[in-house]
Amino acid sequence: MSEPGMSEPFDIVIVGGGITGSAMGAVLARTGLRVHILERDKVYQDRVRGEFMVGWGVTELQRLGLQDVLTGAGAIFVERVIPYDETLPIETAEQFTLALKSLAPDVPNPLCMGHPAMCAALNKAAEAAGASVTRGVKSIKIKAGEQPEVSYRLDGRQVTLRPKLIIGADGRNSVVQRQIGVEMQHDPPHNLLGGMLVEGKTSWPQDAFSLGTEGDVHFLIFPQGEDRLRLYLCYDFADRGRFTGPDKEQNLLAAFRLKCLPQGEEISRCRPISPFHSYSNEDHWADYPMAPGVVLIGDAAGHCDPITGQGLSIGLRDVRIVSDILAQGDWRQAAFLPYVEERRERMRRLRVAGRYTATLRAEYGEAARQRRGLAQHRTNVLGFPSPTLANLFGPESLPAECFEQSTIDALFAP
Ligand SMILES: Cc1cc2nc3c(=O)[nH]c(=O)nc-3n(C[C@H](O)[C@H](O)[C@H](O)COP(=O)(O)OP(=O)(O)OC[C@H]3O[C@@H](n4cnc5c(N)ncnc54)[C@H](O)[C@@H]3O)c2cc1C
Repeated sequence: MSEPGMSEPFDIVIVGGGITGSAMGAVLARTGLRVHILERDKVYQDRVRGEFMVGWGVTELQRLGLQDVLTGAGAIFVERVIPYDETLPIETAEQFTLALKSLAPDVPNPLCMGHPAMCAALNKAAEAAGASVTRGVKSIKIKAGEQPEVSYRLDGRQVTLRPKLIIGADGRNSVVQRQIGVEMQHDPPHNLLGGMLVEGKTSWPQDAFSLGTEGDVHFLIFPQGEDRLRLYLCYDFADRGRFTGPDKEQNLLAAFRLKCLPQGEEISRCRPISPFHSYSNEDHWADYPMAPGVVLIGDAAGHCDPITGQGLSIGLRDVRIVSDILAQGDWRQAAFLPYVEERRERMRRLRVAGRYTATLRAEYGEAARQRRGLAQHRTNVLGFPSPTLANLFGPESLPAECFEQSTIDALFAP
């Protein structure tokens, strides 16, 4: 049985109408395919997810023809990174402020926007392009195969759909991934990363972001327009107690009172305007994120350590590659192999960059501080190869040697 008002049969059913699922819905519906999106939430929630889209992700957004959707809904761009860090005096950090265009003039600047607002804007674009959307679905069941099947409960009724293809875009705890038996791998958790949206008058420049380390925290600050900032903090598992319980928001704000951060005091007086959630930092990946009749994209296909903020860009590239394959007209499993292979190498490279970043920035104490200073001198002054810029300009933008273990060893050598 289908839902009332539904014009079955569908070519594609997408499970998950977040960033990746909604972007895919918009792109496919624009080509005339009959697309249906199944979303769990009636209203998008702030679960603390990505709100900073790096330059290579913005390139993907442009290639998909979706940039206007986000800028029209309030997205802003940042141009500069200020390297505030305990290894640099404030004046030196400000003097070393880097305009991203000076490094890669052809890569767009990063984009900042609230995650629920981004999902809502892309979902609306999918509907405007002709996709239908059902919100509030429960108990999704997937049957992979030549003729795949998806069933779910909606307002107490059981609904079953038989599209030509199912796309799983239901995020990091993907039900689709589990039900089709995709084998996942992950590396050991490195530390915790928690975040919160805040509002208040500060002198933080709305065209700049910063990532740095002081004492026992790695901090990340991204403007969100007007007086809002998205704050993230990486800290050790041993520090978990400080950021749980009734004072967690206030403790997070207080942790921004840092010597290396001139706006720290102002930031600590901001008002939380979202929940605070934290997650462990590690990569999860699948070498083969599909089954007959079902393809996984975005976090459902495996996600990077959020410390490097790659997830939005990864999801948008998945949308481009998979939608290009679908446009060729051959939807058999073998036709998706170029996606599987490109994603495997893309995630491997980003995993190396992510683990390097976590080791460099989210390990604390004197020895770690000295190692950070040395590694930064080796890359910035001596020109050693490093995977860091992959995080901004894309994993394919650097030569393969940047992702070799010998490169990481040379950067971290005592
Ligand atoms: C703390 C943190 C910080 C991050 N920071 C960044 C950053 O700065 N930059 C960046 O690029 N990335 C960042 N990421 C990663 C980024 O948020 C994700 O990679 C991105 O949101 C993935 O998009 P998605 O559409 O695949 O999944 P999601 O955004 O998780 O969307 C999945 C959608 O599926 C729906 N859904 C879930 N289960 C079901 C179900 N059973 N049935 C139907 N619908 C379902 C959900 O409601 C949701 O709408 C961060 C992640 C975390 C955890």
